[in-house]
Amino acid sequence: MSQFADRHIGPCATEVDLMLEKIGATSLDDLIYQAVPDGIRLKEELNLSPALSEQEYMQRIRGIASKNKVFKTYIGMGYYDTISPSVIIRNVLENPVWYTSYTPYQAEISQGRLEALLNFQTMVSELTGMALANASLLDEATAAAEAMIMMFNTRSRSQAKAGVNTCFVDAVVWPQTKTVLETRATPLGINLEFGEAGKDSFDSEKHFGAIVQFPDANGEIRDFSAFAGEVHNAGGKLAVGADLLSLSIISPPGEWGADIVFGSSQRFGVPLYYGGPHAAFFAAGEEFKRHMPGRIIGVSKDATGKPALRMALQTREQHIKRERATSNICTAQALLATMAGFYGVWHGADGLKEIASKIHGLATRLNEALDSKGFKALNKTYFDTLRFKLPESIVVDELRAMMLEKGINLRYFEDSTLIGISIDETTSEEDVQDLIDILLHVADQTSVNIHDIKGNEGIPAEMKRKSKFMEQEVFNNCRSETEMMRYIKRLERKDISLAHSMISLGSCTMKLNAASELFSLTWPEFTSIHPFVPVDQARGYHEMMDELRADLAEITGLADVSLQPNSGAAGEYAGLMVIRTYHQSRNEGHRNVALIPSSAHGTNPASAVMAGMKVVVVKCDEMGNIDMNDLREKAEKHSKELSCIMVTYPSTHGVFESSIKELCNVIHHHGGQVYMDGANMNAQVGITSPGLIGADVCHLNLHKTFSIPHGGGGPGVGPIAVASHLAVFLPGHAVIDNMRDGISAVAAAPWGSPGVLPITYGYIKMMGAGGLKKATQVAILNANYLAVELKDDYGILYTGESGRVGHEMILECRKLKAATGISEIDIAKRLIDYGYHAPTVSFPVHGTLMIEPTESESKEEMDRFLDALKAIYAEIKEVEAGIADKADNVLKNAPHPDYVVVTDAWERPYGREKAAFPLAWVRENKFWPAIARVDDAYGDRNLVCTCEPLENYQDN
Ligand SMILES: *Cc1c(COP(=O)(O)O)cnc(C)c1O
Repeated sequence: MSQFADRHIGPCATEVDLMLEKIGATSLDDLIYQAVPDGIRLKEELNLSPALSEQEYMQRIRGIASKNKVFKTYIGMGYYDTISPSVIIRNVLENPVWYTSYTPYQAEISQGRLEALLNFQTMVSELTGMALANASLLDEATAAAEAMIMMFNTRSRSQAKAGVNTCFVDAVVWPQTKTVLETRATPLGINLEFGEAGKDSFDSEKHFGAIVQFPDANGEIRDFSAFAGEVHNAGGKLAVGADLLSLSIISPPGEWGADIVFGSSQRFGVPLYYGGPHAAFFAAGEEFKRHMPGRIIGVSKDATGKPALRMALQTREQHIKRERATSNICTAQALLATMAGFYGVWHGADGLKEIASKIHGLATRLNEALDSKGFKALNKTYFDTLRFKLPESIVVDELRAMMLEKGINLRYFEDSTLIGISIDETTSEEDVQDLIDILLHVADQTSVNIHDIKGNEGIPAEMKRKSKFMEQEVFNNCRSETEMMRYIKRLERKDISLAHSMISLGSCTMKLNAASELFSLTWPEFTSIHPFVPVDQARGYHEMMDELRADLAEITGLADVSLQPNSGAAGEYAGLMVIRTYHQSRNEGHRNVALIPSSAHGTNPASAVMAGMKVVVVKCDEMGNIDMNDLREKAEKHSKELSCIMVTYPSTHGVFESSIKELCNVIHHHGGQVYMDGANMNAQVGITSPGLIGADVCHLNLHKTFSIPHGGGGPGVGPIAVASHLAVFLPGHAVIDNMRDGISAVAAAPWGSPGVLPITYGYIKMMGAGGLKKATQVAILNANYLAVELKDDYGILYTGESGRVGHEMILECRKLKAATGISEIDIAKRLIDYGYHAPTVSFPVHGTLMIEPTESESKEEMDRFLDALKAIYAEIKEVEAGIADKADNVLKNAPHPDYVVVTDAWERPYGREKAAFPLAWVRENKFWPAIARVDDAYGDRNLVCTCEPLENYQDN
């Protein structure tokens, strides 16, 4: 096995043997033979290149990086180079506590990242002038689609009744926004009408909402306030795509009538990364609070009345709403939003204004220098972006060649008499001088010195920002780097991440995110590439992505792969759109029924509905398996309209169902396609594959199975793999020349989030076929080891026919609750006192915990985790036996923060040591939760989603 695999996989050889003995298997192969049904085991090893050592991989990725060319880029179009503050890069982006933490569902051990995200929300809400902001979406174009859908869903009853279903879109929005809107509108029966806001009328009988961009895609700062009035008079809503940085000096949309403001926060210190990952923002008025897509962080209080943060309004989650959900957003861009929020903390309002003013100042001087010399500036107003009509003597191709020679990218248009230039935070006076020199040289003009130019104002007086913003303390406290470093550290200390202990979240595969895989994340050859540069400047990226696509195709046993979707749920949507288009191409467009087992992840039904499908639920039997009789019946009943089944394998119940091949046959027999949710690929890689099993499409969660860290809730990468008959339908992109085939784009950037792909690439290259297979085997071994150890007290809900689980298991807690009143939530919270993050709570079965250890955890760590669970079991038994009070006990009161334990007023019926140091080893590495148990209901009743002074919300 490779040197790297040996380090990635937690248990050493001796531990593997001990565990095999414990569970009664003779070897790893024997275990896999027992756990995985006959007929779906791969006969041969995956055909991947030989494993590289970490050092060899470093050379490889260096070589790849050197094939990317870093140019000065003025393309703009929603992506701008930015200066990522070193204090944020070093202490957040490169810090495993920040990048390996999980989505903050367990508020008590997540106060740090919750506060960071609350800062982001506050900053967005202040800059946009809106009441509410969420904690990020996937990218600007999908945020536009979410805005369109939210406006559609909140139409008035009479509009809905009258079938008002057209969204007015101003023609001057980003091309990538246009296409993603088109992709998302069609299956929902929404019409799009492109026009000129303010000129073409907004019609109450037709339009439910309008989308404009500010400044628009040509750089113009248009005054949309009259248009906003027109839209509102007609009963419509206005969504504005905005440049967040510009709003520090120009009038925020919230002050002139926007109902929704969305956009990208990339230029707040997040590298270009050839398109992503970047956090989109989404802000809206108070009246939308129950309709907002994505996660919202809100203020509540803990059991002692102390202010506490947590994710608000969780009832809107897809798991509860399922096919009634209005958005399928699950993983978003938490880490990038965290970084952008810290950028706001670092610079404060004044710093942001200074950056924006410098950018604008350079733009005005460039404008004046060129306009006086025959380059006709088409912008009457602007923030950072200008368009020029070239003097007639200039041939654009020659200009382009000259610019490329100098290492400069401008924006070029279909109209070859135009060029576009967007200034960003990294642009210096010298850079602008270079532009002036080259352009005037090409135009046969004498150059002008930028120092002799003052520049005219590009922002009309009435559009200047007059209101104050970001006056909260947090944006005014961190002027020195020392303070900033300590603030980041202070938040970090409140959170549990993989740097502390095992995070056994079923379905989420919290495995090691190795340092070598992550090294290249800050190399300029990867960070500083704009997504729309000529492809030959990104040859390194493309070499890496081509190899990665081929490897993922091999691993899934499918023909082709698209890397475009930015999360698992985005992959589901993309895969379903591919299936939909395939049926249409065969004149079977009426096929629109998606069969979905009742055990499916909530994003499945939500994605199906967004792809225009009708969800028909298939039952599960008492063993947790898909009820094959019900499946046959429903497939038969809907035979004519059957589009697909969405199936997770091994099932979300953690079991390799032996009927899976038959299931695929039934669906195919009725003309349907098999969509496999690949979130559980960690139990398949190298042992079986979606292709072998019979799937036509599957998505992968690179942020689960393939080592991209969770980042506190993102970034995610959700590529889809498809069988050969579907390859022509993989998503294309409107901006890239040879990507016009396939379905229209599902994401803003052509290749999704290339910046984090080296992580997965490195993982596969260093693991090699042997390492990947071993990882799967050990993941299954670790889960079965835990299952054997826990089956006698708690009980394991489901196992396969041979009595084995897959790579995860469901811990039964319902009987304990019935007997003692102690719920799975109490167990989850008590684990925090032992230093552990809870497993997945109440999914996929209420009253249970789902545990997935992954291959990266050693036996030693799992034994500690088992000790904790067993000690908790004993604590529950004390309640049952009447030794402990039913209501006032260590479980109901968990977790115990220091301010609860270290107090002279201790009045609990149990001791402080039992509360805080329940086992000897807990003392060694004690993690103190920052708060006592959070009160979710209180926060939802009193929704507060910005960091206004906390004391206002304290319970008194
Ligand atoms: C995580 C998960 C998803 C959704 O993936 P995201 O990246 O969070 O959108 C879908 N299905 C299953 C089974 C999952 O575990």
